[in-house]
Amino acid sequence: MKRFYPDFESIQAFTLSLDYHQNELTCVHCSKSDQFVSHGIIYKQRSSVLADKVGKRLFCSNRYGRSGCGRTFQLYVASEVPAFRYGAAHLFIFITALVAKVGISEAYHQATGQLETRNAWRWLNRLMFKLSHYRSVLKYRKDDLLNSFRSSSHYCQHLLPTLTRLFTSTKNGCIHYQTDQQQSFL
Ligand SMILES: [Zn+2]
Repeated sequence: MKRFYPDFESIQAFTLSLDYHQNELTCVHCSKSDQFVSHGIIYKQRSSVLADKVGKRLFCSNRYGRSGCGRTFQLYVASEVPAFRYGAAHLFIFITALVAKVGISEAYHQATGQLETRNAWRWLNRLMFKLSHYRSVLKYRKDDLLNSFRSSSHYCQHLLPTLTRLFTSTKNGCIHYQTDQQQSFL
């Protein structure tokens, strides 16, 4: 099942015509494709007054005579990183700053506007966790990448050769990865 979409309107169009899209829908738990119902919008709170629509839920319904398994699935816009407070745009600023050899704290500050930057290392840990996935997408061998970059930071030494190829000045590697791979960037 496709999880990431170019924008909210595409998700809306898809979920409003589930019967038409049955051949693209198979529940990974019960293998049924004809029991899904649209199950509400996912919002992300941007500020105390502003919330954006970032996705929708699909429910493999086991109610009202339907025979699905009762599980819920989340569909997201590709600029949204599931279970991550910030979005692809913030990651783009963070990573392109690191690539430009800006320090880790400063890169985080540029991306988020936060003065407290300890969280930057949490981001780096999450990127490290996915590094082998990114490399497999790029089809680069680890050795090719390591030799091409020198950095005083252990994290940057490992991450930047790969992230440099995923993120260019014109390409948000995060959105691209989620759209292409249909899995969360982090
Ligand atoms: Zn199901």
